[in-house]
Amino acid sequence: MDKTRPIEITEALYAELNESCGGFCIECRDQAYGVEPDARRYRCENCGADAVYGVEELLIRGLIEFAEDAAE
Ligand SMILES: [Zn+2]
Repeated sequence: MDKTRPIEITEALYAELNESCGGFCIECRDQAYGVEPDARRYRCENCGADAVYGVEELLIRGLIEFAEDAAE
């Protein structure tokens, strides 16, 4: 029900995904590719939901939180 728990990534990964058009599915939290940073509701190849968002869009919506780079 509370499926909008933020996805934790490092700032380095965020920058990389922004450059390489990466995104995340907010349903299954799978990483997706070929997604513009401001993409919304793309089809997820993993779970089939229209729930893939670009990283910039996720950040605006508060669905990405930055983790410590050194966190294990
Ligand atoms: Zn999915």
